[in-house]
Amino acid sequence: METKARALSKKISFKNIIAVSFSVVSVFAIFACMIFGGVKLAYNVKFDKKVITTVSNKEVYYAAVDIVADIVEGDDVVSYLPEAEINAVVTINDTVESCDEVADAIIENTDEIISASRLILNGEVLGTADTSDLYSAVSARKAAFDIEGTQCESEFCDDVIIEEGYFLKSEVADVSELGEKISSLSVKTTLKESTEQSIPYKTVTNKTDSKPAGYVNKDRAGEYGVTVVTSGVVYVDGEETERVTLGSEVIKEPVDEIVTVGTARKSAGRVVSSGFTFPLPSGVWEVSCPYGKGGHKGVDLRAPHGTSIMAAASGRVTLAGVYRDYGNCVIIDHGNGLSTLYAHASKLCVSVGEYVSAGEVIALVGSTGNSTGNHLHFEVYVGSDRVNPQPYIGLR
Ligand SMILES: [Zn+2]
Repeated sequence: METKARALSKKISFKNIIAVSFSVVSVFAIFACMIFGGVKLAYNVKFDKKVITTVSNKEVYYAAVDIVADIVEGDDVVSYLPEAEINAVVTINDTVESCDEVADAIIENTDEIISASRLILNGEVLGTADTSDLYSAVSARKAAFDIEGTQCESEFCDDVIIEEGYFLKSEVADVSELGEKISSLSVKTTLKESTEQSIPYKTVTNKTDSKPAGYVNKDRAGEYGVTVVTSGVVYVDGEETERVTLGSEVIKEPVDEIVTVGTARKSAGRVVSSGFTFPLPSGVWEVSCPYGKGGHKGVDLRAPHGTSIMAAASGRVTLAGVYRDYGNCVIIDHGNGLSTLYAHASKLCVSVGEYVSAGEVIALVGSTGNSTGNHLHFEVYVGSDRVNPQPYIGLR
């Protein structure tokens, strides 16, 4: 450190280096010291023959020793200080140091005192080690849970503090001795994760009677939509503990699938009307003889033996038994003068007087009576007239 007086004396001597003699400069310098600085009695403090500080009086040194004992962690710190040799000297006022400066000088010049850090977990000291070693080990513990290729953030679940200070050398451990304690610190890693999810498409069905039942055509293929879901995921020591959906964004809308389905019955083109339930299950029958052909008073629907025959509409059973050429036969009265007849059954499932609802099984297909093969002969009566039954069940 350069005092004001010295600086001033240098400045003056430099300015006048050519013009003024050395003796004049010396006199002038002493004069300057007396005016601006003042000569004073002070004390040099030596550790092992080396001056470590200059104090205005011995009390400053002893006060500094008390400060050191206070600052430095460890028992009986003072006993670790080198023996101080304190000598009176003549000095300039500005060169003496304050208590804090002297304390620093003592610490710097005492080999048994070193700077280090304590690792503190929730207020409890786990140990003391070299500061940079401790920072490295603690950072490595946190980094161990970083998820590669992501912008995650890791932090300790508990309150972990590294506190710097001065310690007796004997109190400071090698960081490896704290390894187990450091590797048991819990780390919480939070991550924003985006995942794509598909959105199902809808199928729009267009029905057409210009195509037979069973006709299916995919006019346009459906396409899945895509939504990006952003989640906040929390891991503790690498295990997922929490997942919260933060938001989602549709990046592609789904495209409807369009399908055309034929509704016309197998042996017919156009459906005229359909007030009744079809008396046979779909897909098993075929018109083998339409109404009117050769004076035919009903419609013949060829179907396998044992196929369910269902009531075309609700009503009361007025006949259930063998009836003329019809073989096993059922007649249902639907009211308003409307009746239906089901002939050639292999088996009857209802009896006279019973009320049945539309679609209820009343008999099974067979070939009883005047019949050449398994089929249902179906008639519709309006009053006592047998009318074309086909429009009633959706056939032309
Ligand atoms: Zn017939």
